Amino acid sequence: MSEPEVSLVIRGGMLIDGRGEAPVSRGVVAIAGTRIAFAGPAHEAPPSLRLTAARSIDLPDACLLPGLIDAHVHATYYWEEPDSAAYTYEPEEALVYSDVMIALLAAANLRQALLAGVTTARDTGSVNQVIFDVKRAVDKGLIPGPKLYTAGRLIVPTGGHVTYLPGLANQADGPDGFRRAVREELRAGADFIKLANNSADLTQEELNAAVDETHRRGKKVACHTSRPPSQRMAIDAGVDTFEHGTPTPEEIDLAAEKGITWTPTVNITLAYLSLCERRLNEARASSKAQARWRKEFDETVQYLERKRASIACALKAGMRLAAGTDSWMGGIRFGAIADEVRCLVEYGCTPLQALQAATVWPAQAMGWEETGVLAPGKLADVVAVAGDPLADIGAVDRVVLVVREGQVVSGG
Ligand SMILES: [Zn+2]
Repeated sequence: MSEPEVSLVIRGGMLIDGRGEAPVSRGVVAIAGTRIAFAGPAHEAPPSLRLTAARSIDLPDACLLPGLIDAHVHATYYWEEPDSAAYTYEPEEALVYSDVMIALLAAANLRQALLAGVTTARDTGSVNQVIFDVKRAVDKGLIPGPKLYTAGRLIVPTGGHVTYLPGLANQADGPDGFRRAVREELRAGADFIKLANNSADLTQEELNAAVDETHRRGKKVACHTSRPPSQRMAIDAGVDTFEHGTPTPEEIDLAAEKGITWTPTVNITLAYLSLCERRLNEARASSKAQARWRKEFDETVQYLERKRASIACALKAGMRLAAGTDSWMGGIRFGAIADEVRCLVEYGCTPLQALQAATVWPAQAMGWEETGVLAPGKLADVVAVAGDPLADIGAVDRVVLVVREGQVVSGG
């Protein structure tokens, strides 16, 4: 068999292929069209691959990585103040965007994520299902953006999570109701299903039915979790990933055994902590508001400490993590996966593990066989960052080249 025609060669000072192996110094990625033809040390490239004939980008001070994956974004959320979406929401203050405005916002967000090196994003819940059209626009090349995997609306019980926000929830009740809601979102174009459970908002039977219905159709399920017993319920139901929360050692063992992946979303929680601090300072005049934000602040500090313990425990148990920014709120950079990767390191991951959480692990969790590693036959999604991310994880924020499916998007 003849080797494919190489269209682009990227040379880096180092290369991390995402498979957890030692980094390669002076690594090369050879791309043929939209696929990777070779990734590894230059001297191991098959001589029949005519590397010198192709266009070449040389980045001796950069590290080549698989295109990054943000496993938790909301490109269509337009609420800028996080507490307007949660704690101080009053219907008369509600800001309602038209679907056109939502689509334009999503386009701007996705462009930003792509330039930050995110070549694949999992949109874990969208307003009015607008994300399906946004995804079509990205796929058609009308707007720049990561390859999108979309959930459509969040499926929740009547009155459950996010039902106070317009257009976000598909409200269902009873196991049959949840099956129907799953079918509705899949029919509308969802690539996977997003459920939301804050404690025991829905019954185990409802959760089981939703997971069963989704898996029966060959799709994956992500479940928003928060307080106990939401993680245990999600794990018992056999979701593919659960989001947020602080699983206990027992829950982690069960999840690891089932191959379930956890998206800890640390950065958004730290951002929420600073919001609590700001609100606390603003609230000096009102003792009632002050008491409320003091309580929020203290609880968030404790929550973060539990999260730190959960992450350490998960890594020990061999559980895979997914890096997710939960990008949406004001004050958080959209799609800035570098922030979450840095947080994962601060919370106990090795730099290599944090990079795997932003590449190969979410790809495995979601069955995205074509991405997440630099290897022959995979989609040619490649990011180069200035410096050595294993020595300084901040390097992930210094993106110098983004290639999506063989096309140079920025840099080069
Ligand atoms: Zn979310």
